[in-house]
Amino acid sequence: MRLKDKVALITGAAGGIGHAVAELFTKEGAIVIATDIKPPEKPYAGDVEVMTLDVTSEEQWATTVAAILRRHGRLDILINNAGIIAYEPLDKLEMREWQKMIAVDQTGVFLGMREAVRVMRRQQAGAIVNISSIWGSAAVSGAHSYHAAKGAVRNMSKNAAMTYAGEGIRVNSVHPGFIHTPLTDAQNPELNRIVIDTTPMKRGGQPMEIAYGCLFLASDEASYVTGTELNIDGGYLAQ
Ligand code: NAP
Repeated sequence: MRLKDKVALITGAAGGIGHAVAELFTKEGAIVIATDIKPPEKPYAGDVEVMTLDVTSEEQWATTVAAILRRHGRLDILINNAGIIAYEPLDKLEMREWQKMIAVDQTGVFLGMREAVRVMRRQQAGAIVNISSIWGSAAVSGAHSYHAAKGAVRNMSKNAAMTYAGEGIRVNSVHPGFIHTPLTDAQNPELNRIVIDTTPMKRGGQPMEIAYGCLFLASDEASYVTGTELNIDGGYLAQ
């Protein structure tokens, strides 16, 4: 019961990492609101409230958080997890592809943090965890727009952490390495093999291994932790 009675909003929770976070948080006693643009890919183990939220929509963020406040009276935790990936290198990147990536992976995080911080400032308490990536702090060839967005999420997290550190609001980022999810299942197997082969642990991670990092950062156990980045990557970034 590490999150007993805390109200937690998770984005992109239909499958993959977000789904695991939703299940773990409800097991640990949180009131979980799992959101996505699509219905859950499989039922959640445990009591999870499901809502539709497109993280690129300013209006949907406002109505979703307002509905949570009406129902539960507060918002203690935000996990900004929704994301997409693309591999176009800089010279082949079309404007509309760039804009889509920035809209989901970066603007979505901005809108979510802004909405949550407005509530958390009134509460003088709250924890935000933004899911970045190993590609938010190190580079691989190609995937220019993904690097742009995930690097921004890393620094946006630190900025929000500094800005609200005196108001009981903690903001941290999590940087997964290769994780087995619907996102990576849909990728080129050869690309997946290369990333796994270059991971010191020589395996991909499971969504629950990311969820446990989110659990620590979202819980009161991390009461002195803000502005940090937690790599959960089988040792990838230690190389
Ligand atoms: P996933 O299984 O694809 O889950 C992400 C979810 O977000 C999907 O359901 C996706 O829907 C949804 N989504 C897409 N656009 C959205 C929008 N505008 N509003 C709300 N939801 C939206 O991916 P995952 O691997 O669990 O990734 C979760 C997060 O971890 C992402 O931010 C990703 O960048 C990050 N990450 C993953 C890995 C990895 O190896 N898996 C590594 C580093 C970082 P669609 O399926 O329809 O797009």
